[in-house]
Amino acid sequence: MTHRVHNFSPGPAVLPESVLMQVQRDLLALPGVGMSVLEITHRGPAFTEILQSTKDRLRRLLHIPENYQILFLQGGSRLQFSMIPMNLLRGTNRSADYVLTGSWGLKAHEEAVREGSIRVAWDGKSSGYNRFPDDAEWQVDPQAAYVYVTSNETIEGVQFAREPVTGEVPLVCDASSDFLCRPVPIARYGLIYACAQKNAGPAGVTIVIVRDDLLDRSRKDLPGYLNYRAHAKEDSLFNTPPTFAIYLVNLVAGWLLDEIGGLEAMHQQNRRKADLLYRTIDESNGFYSGHAQPASRSMMNVTFRLPNDELQSQFLKLAEQQELVNLAGHRSVGGIRASIYNAMPVASVERLRDFMCEFLQNQRS
Ligand SMILES: *Cc1c(COP(=O)(O)O)cnc(C)c1O
Repeated sequence: MTHRVHNFSPGPAVLPESVLMQVQRDLLALPGVGMSVLEITHRGPAFTEILQSTKDRLRRLLHIPENYQILFLQGGSRLQFSMIPMNLLRGTNRSADYVLTGSWGLKAHEEAVREGSIRVAWDGKSSGYNRFPDDAEWQVDPQAAYVYVTSNETIEGVQFAREPVTGEVPLVCDASSDFLCRPVPIARYGLIYACAQKNAGPAGVTIVIVRDDLLDRSRKDLPGYLNYRAHAKEDSLFNTPPTFAIYLVNLVAGWLLDEIGGLEAMHQQNRRKADLLYRTIDESNGFYSGHAQPASRSMMNVTFRLPNDELQSQFLKLAEQQELVNLAGHRSVGGIRASIYNAMPVASVERLRDFMCEFLQNQRS
């Protein structure tokens, strides 16, 4: 067995070991098929079964209602920044509301303004993007085409505890870095999407869950690939989909159902893992200072700083010697970021917690 380290990468990120082993086992030939998943047509029976199974498993995990479509697209979450306003805003004579809680919300906003009229409903800039707002702090324009939020800001480590209230206005959510981390009331959303490479699989596929009635907004003059309705009509086979990435999402969903026991159990485990690190931060007398305000702390990306840059580099260097890797914060914000997605073993988080305690003790002695 090849040696694996404790990988705190923000994405592409750690995958469940049992999933990787199954991929390895079945890579030469899928059982009963005699060909690898990399070599089969997307229109044949073997891949049709994989695609169906992936959708079925996601429906079971998230209790996705019948009137929602699941699409598997390419172009990453970044393409969704454009596809969302192209499909849901273009031609409506309305504006869309954007809630800016961090770097990814800002990037989504940057693309959306190219497409139509956009209103900023709330901007966390003045507090350094360290929290998600309360419903009372901003008002949805009741005429808005949609309200756009980012459920987990991967770079700042800011996550909402629950969905904001948007009334009749469809809620659109970038859930790229916390998809499948906990149960989600899908019926509260008009559209929710996630690229796979944080919490659901490898890079290459983006999962879009969209309510049927919103598909009617997609105009015929959109380029074919950029039209949600075209993908829904062709059941994600408008063009060759990223077959291998979808196959992996299927295995990850199977792991969540059969080994973890569903999203409620996953949520509890994620809560436990995050609490180990946040408690260490809170009990360090300010040596470690968390970026996010406690009520908005992310279960997926734990962001914090040390008293100075020198200690931070020392922390990263010593951590790496203990095989705790990819802990540097995003280049735009610095500091430390421990990404502890679903597949991150509890034991690895405990190792990091122990290392943080030791590092602190050594400063004091
Ligand atoms: C990683 C990430 C993205 C960007 O995803 P790409 O697939 O690289 O386009 C967007 N939003 C969030 C919240 C992310 O974590």
